[in-house]
Amino acid sequence: MPIYEYRCLDCGRRFSIFWRTISAAEEGTPRCTHCGSDRVQRLISRVRMLRSEEAVLEELADPAAWGDFDENDPKSMGRMMRKMMNELGGEMDEMPPELEEVVDRLEAGQSPEEIEKEVPDLAGLESPPDEVPSPPATGGSEETL
Ligand SMILES: [Zn+2]
Repeated sequence: MPIYEYRCLDCGRRFSIFWRTISAAEEGTPRCTHCGSDRVQRLISRVRMLRSEEAVLEELADPAAWGDFDENDPKSMGRMMRKMMNELGGEMDEMPPELEEVVDRLEAGQSPEEIEKEVPDLAGLESPPDEVPSPPATGGSEETL
């Protein structure tokens, strides 16, 4: 349920209106709750401002929000990850294709171990490669250990 905030152009006061749906808000005519004028200007939606990425993550961190989440059930994990991706989808510019692949496989009932074997690219997502290029050696004479 969107909450839009408006400012009245006649009396200059701010007020909020709860709309049943977004389209109702777009099509409806808001009226000032103070003077009844329909000369109002919509301000930035308060809802949007509050619903930051952090809030989404907080909500997802609450096990109750996961419903029947079962970490031993790949399908359950897949559903949960899909939900997370959907929640964060609008915030992220690009979803890694590997992640999409993993969720697809989890939802199909594959275990994480199987997926790891069949999707070799995944290694790069989880842990850094073993061989980290060492920084160029600087003058060894300074080492006094
Ligand atoms: Zn007014």
